[in-house]
Formats: sequence, C-alpha cells, structure tokens
Amino acid sequence: MTNKIKDILNKQINEEFYSSYLYLALAAFLEKQGLKGAANWMNIQAKEENDHALGFYRFLLDRNEEPVLEAIAKPDLSNIKNIKDVFNAGLKHEQHITACISNIHQLAKEEKDSALESFIKWYVDEQVEEEANAIEILDKLNLAGHEGSVIYMIDQELKARTYIPSGPYAAAA
Ligand code: MG
Repeated sequence: MTNKIKDILNKQINEEFYSSYLYLALAAFLEKQGLKGAANWMNIQAKEENDHALGFYRFLLDRNEEPVLEAIAKPDLSNIKNIKDVFNAGLKHEQHITACISNIHQLAKEEKDSALESFIKWYVDEQVEEEANAIEILDKLNLAGHEGSVIYMIDQELKARTYIPSGPYAAAA
C-alpha cells in the first residue's frame, strides 16, 4: 500500500469517528429539547459512524498496515438552535463525507489499487443513502414549519429507528 493511500485511509478513520462524535453531540442536544425520538435516530447514526470508522481500521489491518488513531475534534454546536438546524448540519456534514469518499475512490483508481477500489464501493453507495435520509427528514421538517404538533409526530416517527450494524464487514460480522 502506498503512503498516500495509507494517509487518506487513516484520515478517513478520523473523519468517521468525528461523524460519530458529532451525531452523539447532536443527539444530546435533541434529547435536551425533549425530542427523544430524534435523539434516538441520531444516537443510532452515531453508532453506524463508529462502524464505518472500524471498516477502515479493519481494511488497514487486513492489508498488513497499522491504523493510526489521531485525536478527535470537538463538535461545534454554536449555530444549532433547533431540530431543523440539527438535520441541516447533518446533511452538510454528509456532503463533506461524500467528497472525502469520492477522493478515496479517485485515489484508488489513480494508484491502481484494485482492493481499495472494491472496498470503497460500499462507502460510495452508503453516502447516497446517507444524504437521501437527511434530505427526507429535512423535507418533513420544512413542511412542519413551526407546527409543534407536526414536529411531535416526526419525533415519534424517528423513535422507530433501530440499530443494525453498518459497514463493509457488517454482513460477515
Ligand atoms: Mg459514515
């Protein structure tokens, strides 16, 4: 494995753990607002991001490389005032992650690393779903506006989400 690839994969471990950290912080914000359903959704999102980080960790080890675990940044929630801000922040973050994954895919092709190209495909597909999920919830929140009873209904709906292990190795685990 080239140093360039090793670096980008270690950086992505940090990106995914940061995602988990961000969603955990957003879950806490939502729970403090009394939105336990939305908090549940975010908590599960955080768990899935942890799985995504471990996917890169496992791939490095399987390729006989040692993963490097750098410090995780503190999530900045200073611009988050309500549930709509939360899901807007989530969508913006997922768009950033999509760009990161796309860069890894591009590098795999440039460096002719077929194993990485195959591995990263799972993440490419996952990002389409991640953005679609965030947009779907945002659409509902936009329809609800400031209607508390509708936001309550959306919160009830988000309570139904359950955790399913996520990542390229989840099915085999
Ligand atoms: Mg992820």
